[in-house]
Amino acid sequence: MVRVRGLKKSFGSHRVLDGVDLDVAEGSVTVLLGPSGSGKSTLLRCVNHLERPDAGFVEVAGEIVGYRYRDGRLHELPGREITRQRTQVGMVFQQFNLFPHLTVLENLIEAPVAVRGVPKPDAVAKAGELLARVGLDGRQSAYPRELSGGQQQRVAIARALAMEPRLLLFDEPTSALDPELVGEVLGVIRDLAVGGMSMIIVTHEIGFAREVADQAVFLDGGRIVESGAPADVLDRPGNERARAFLSAVL
Ligand code: ATP
Ligand code: MG
Repeated sequence: MVRVRGLKKSFGSHRVLDGVDLDVAEGSVTVLLGPSGSGKSTLLRCVNHLERPDAGFVEVAGEIVGYRYRDGRLHELPGREITRQRTQVGMVFQQFNLFPHLTVLENLIEAPVAVRGVPKPDAVAKAGELLARVGLDGRQSAYPRELSGGQQQRVAIARALAMEPRLLLFDEPTSALDPELVGEVLGVIRDLAVGGMSMIIVTHEIGFAREVADQAVFLDGGRIVESGAPADVLDRPGNERARAFLSAVL
């Protein structure tokens, strides 16, 4: 589903991604860990073409993200093509990022109607199903500020799903939540994993990672220094930095 090759990204003279190679199989869950500043968010943002790589490429569902390969080199895609590609990749952030002036229902139907041209009645019906799926039946008319953080994050997940993405990216989806609300959000992500959704999840919830991940990847200084089965990466990392980090977060 995802193929990353030789990905490099710098901000000024600061190299944030320093040659990342990563594969995510269709229907599998990859957990991405690493210290602050190691490049986790930047890597996710490259998968969505929110950042433009300096070298290398990301492929999602067989297409190079943001570019077309022709005459031996990469050419940037026109904006509407990038928009089309982005609709295939849902993203859920730490800070929910719901539209505060829109109701839950309006948050869910906005992009399907505006970007994908789904007829409004269909989008509304689909939104109802998705809200039931994340345990928020009956909250259609609420505004984000009337919901708890855990509920807002579940709306954000439903909103991502409303676009029928082929891949979901999560950037620390529970780290802004009060501890008692973490479980309800992880529960929704766990259900998606069981349902076969392809996902890349940045999280420091190690127990959750061990349980749902097919692959764990440890990033340090913009390079993958450890990757493989969660049990190996999380419980017996060979890399010194990974060992130190994991013993600190556990
Ligand atoms: P955290 O765990 O704190 O979220 P991270 O692993 O997600 O960290 P990134 O957000 O990818 O790390 O950032 C990696 C480095 O790149 C950091 O030093 C950050 O300051 C820098 N960086 C990220 N985005 C930009 C930007 N748009 N402009 C300049 N520097 C940036
Ligand atoms: Mg980050």
